[in-house]
Amino acid sequence: MDFIIKPKKSLGQNFLIDQNIINKIINITDIENKTIVEIGAGNGNLTKKIVSKNPNKLYGIEKDEKLSIFLKNIFSDFNNIQIINDDIINFFKKKKIGKNIIVFGNLPYNISTQILSSLILLEKWPPWYDMLIFMFQKEVADRILAKNKGKDFGRLSILCNWRLEIKKHFDVSKNCFFPKPKINSTVLSFKPKKNNKFNIKNPKNLETVTRILFSNRRKMINKNFLKLFKYDYTVAKELQLNLKQRPEELSNEMFYKIAIKYEKLFY
Ligand code: SAH
Repeated sequence: MDFIIKPKKSLGQNFLIDQNIINKIINITDIENKTIVEIGAGNGNLTKKIVSKNPNKLYGIEKDEKLSIFLKNIFSDFNNIQIINDDIINFFKKKKIGKNIIVFGNLPYNISTQILSSLILLEKWPPWYDMLIFMFQKEVADRILAKNKGKDFGRLSILCNWRLEIKKHFDVSKNCFFPKPKINSTVLSFKPKKNNKFNIKNPKNLETVTRILFSNRRKMINKNFLKLFKYDYTVAKELQLNLKQRPEELSNEMFYKIAIKYEKLFY
């Protein structure tokens, strides 16, 4: 082929062209007989290699109409491959595709965190997927992997660690893509935590708590915390929480405990 279609920047089209990296990605987990979803199948570089590992079924979701027509053509002989021309966020909302699914994606960078969040903020847990294998821009991966007290620690790592086991696999040079992006990437995988100790009934409450407590990174949390709890001083005591800390000094677990206390205000 290879690039008969001009890549669209607006859709984050940076195609992976390094076969060694593609092989490393598909060897992260067993694919044979599994159901696979690929987010943004693009020109099918990754798709072809996934298919060579004999999945039971593969759904390739691609928002770009031209690319999805192209993909439908190249995979027309495979009855275990279904190419769907849709926005992935829509697809996840509408479609029921079964259980124990593995999701791959060299994610469109402009919506990568939105995609990941939507896979965490699900009502039903454990969710319909067994594993996510995603490529992010390195900066985003660093924020996902960040530990408290570090400069990258924040809402994204708190949300991800709440429900997912996160593993870093390897960095990928920007030279492995066409067109070449400005920065390097990182491949991460995620597995749902089955027995989550922190049962937050409505995950939106974790979002609210972290949004408000991180609204001023440099300042002590006391004002924002007291506002959250309507000036009830007992909550901080019960949590043994020192309100003179800055938000980035709190542990992940403390944020989950705060969210649980916060939602008790409404139930
Ligand atoms: N998997 C291919 C392409 C990755 S580039 C490869 O690794 O080479 C990201 C792909 O996601 C592009 O093909 C882009 O068109 C597609 N895309 C962008 N936004 C999308 C969305 N909201 N839903 C589904 N696909 C999307």
